[in-house]
Amino acid sequence: MLSEKVLSREQIDEAIERLAARLNAELAGREAVFVCVLKGAVYFFTELTSRLTTSVVIDFIQVSSYGATTESSGTVTLVKDLTVDISGKDVYVVEDIVDTGLTLADVIALLGARHPRSVQVVTLLSKPSRRRKEVPLDHVGIEIPDRFVVGFGLDFAEHFRNLPEIWEYVPQEEA
Ligand code: 5GP
Repeated sequence: MLSEKVLSREQIDEAIERLAARLNAELAGREAVFVCVLKGAVYFFTELTSRLTTSVVIDFIQVSSYGATTESSGTVTLVKDLTVDISGKDVYVVEDIVDTGLTLADVIALLGARHPRSVQVVTLLSKPSRRRKEVPLDHVGIEIPDRFVVGFGLDFAEHFRNLPEIWEYVPQEEA
C-alpha cells in the first residue's frame, strides 16, 4: 500500500530543472545520445530532454528488473536494444533510480562495449545507502533514504507508474 508522499511534483520539477541547466551548459558541440532505460525512466526522460536547448538523439533500452518483488536479482537481461549506433557519440544513460547499482553497471558495460566517445549517467533518484556496486553517477537529481518508492515512472508489479508524485510503497504483509 502507498504509505507516505516522499517527493512532491514541485520537488521533482525543481530537480529536473537543475539537471537540465547543468546539461545545457555542457552539451554544446557534443553529439549526444540520450538513452532512456525503460520503463521506469520514461516520465523523467521526456521531462528532462524536453528542457534541453540543443538537439540530441534519443533512444530507448529495456533490461529486466525486479518483476513483482522489491529486491534486485542482480542479473539483468536485455529486453529491448537501442536502434541507433552510439560509436563515437557522447552517451547519457537516463535512469529513474540507482539502488544497488547492479543494473546500471550492466547497462554501462553493455553500452561501453559499443565504443561510444563517453558514457555518463543521469539519474533522477539515488539510494546511496543501498549501493553494492560503485557506479559513476555524473548527474543525480535527489538522494533518498532506503525506502521503496513508486510513482513518476516507478512501479510495483507494473502499477503506480502514472502517479504524478513519488510515494513510499510498503508491501501488504509488512504494512
Ligand atoms: P539496482 O540494480 O540499482 O538495484 O536497481 C535499479 C532498478 O531497480 C531501477 O532502475 C528500478 O527499476 C528498480 N528500483 C530500485 N529501487 C527502486 C524503488 O525504490 N522503487 C521502484 N519502483 N523501483 C526501484
